[in-house]
Amino acid sequence: MGKKVLVIGEQREGTLRNVTFEAIAAAKTISGDGEVVGVLCGSEDLSSLGQEMVAYGADRVITVSNEALKQYTSEGFGQAIMAVIQDENPEGILMGHTAIGKDLTPKLASKLETGLISDATVVEETGGNFVFTRPIYSGKAFEKKIITDGVIFATIRPNNIPALDKDESRTGEVTAKDVDVKDIRTIIQDVIRKTSEGVDLSEAKIIVAGGRGVKSSEGFEPLEELANVLGGAVGASRGACDAGYCDYSLQIGQTGKVVTPDLYIAVGISGAIQHLAGMSNSKVIVAINKDPEANIFNVADYGIVGDLFDVVPKLIEEMKQIGV
Ligand code: FAD
Repeated sequence: MGKKVLVIGEQREGTLRNVTFEAIAAAKTISGDGEVVGVLCGSEDLSSLGQEMVAYGADRVITVSNEALKQYTSEGFGQAIMAVIQDENPEGILMGHTAIGKDLTPKLASKLETGLISDATVVEETGGNFVFTRPIYSGKAFEKKIITDGVIFATIRPNNIPALDKDESRTGEVTAKDVDVKDIRTIIQDVIRKTSEGVDLSEAKIIVAGGRGVKSSEGFEPLEELANVLGGAVGASRGACDAGYCDYSLQIGQTGKVVTPDLYIAVGISGAIQHLAGMSNSKVIVAINKDPEANIFNVADYGIVGDLFDVVPKLIEEMKQIGV
């Protein structure tokens, strides 16, 4: 029998995050011939974003627009989404494993008195159960989890479950719901974005990451150029961040962002276990390092032993020539 699955969409400044579409695809696996219902919160008219969720496979979408939802707060979004959950009574709830997803979903799960599977990379049906695969021990192993009782509630790691193709001919109702959002104790004075330009690191398909071997903030410029040529984002090791070569918002690893791009180019990064925790599940890893014994080569699919200051400019030239 089909299930009703709610997908909590996420938008930033009027653009839906890709992981919303990936969560819709995962929800389709669970819903079977049931229904995938999207929910979106914000302060403006969200109907066109709702239609976009429909184009990516949602059967219908509920939008909650309220001035109190202009900025994310767990209290405000929690109230709005709980109101939708109470109306809809879904059997499954999915959201992206993003900063907001990580903050909001445990609170919702505790209100619903259900379990939460966080950071799932695969969702599949086995013997009537929905099995979620998630990395453990900093990505060194994977565990499979099921929720046997209560709402099936999970967050989905970005860049792992392919979204359905966008199809503008899909139809579905987008309805606005009024929620009296009140008693918000958190006051957001200002939002300062450190990486407002370019591709979002956690959703980037290509990442060029620099380490301490890059030697200075100027040393990051060729990496930025390579990332631009490839249409990717720049990341960094903690070594590079600690040395002041780049902002901590770029840090990848155990205490930074966890990424799973299609292509990860590690430049002047030794491959410490804490760095690998954030990137070792990338689909293809290329390492550039002058030390042939560097640990990064143990996880790399392709390795270039050489001086990054020679190799990176050559790569940029080559990529430009072949017109990537
Ligand atoms: P290094 O280890 O110094 O490596 C620099 C590399 O550059 C070397 O391999 C060298 O051969 C190469 N190199 C130098 N010059 C050149 C050149 N001209 N051309 C080519 N190659 C060159 N680290 C993270 O990255 N992310 C985390 O989230 C993180 N969390 C941590 C949490 C804890 C609790 C702890 C204790 C540590 C954490 N670390 C983390 C730090 C981690 O242990 C390493 O210290 C760090 O990853 C090293 O960064 P690096 O590889 O850039 O620097």
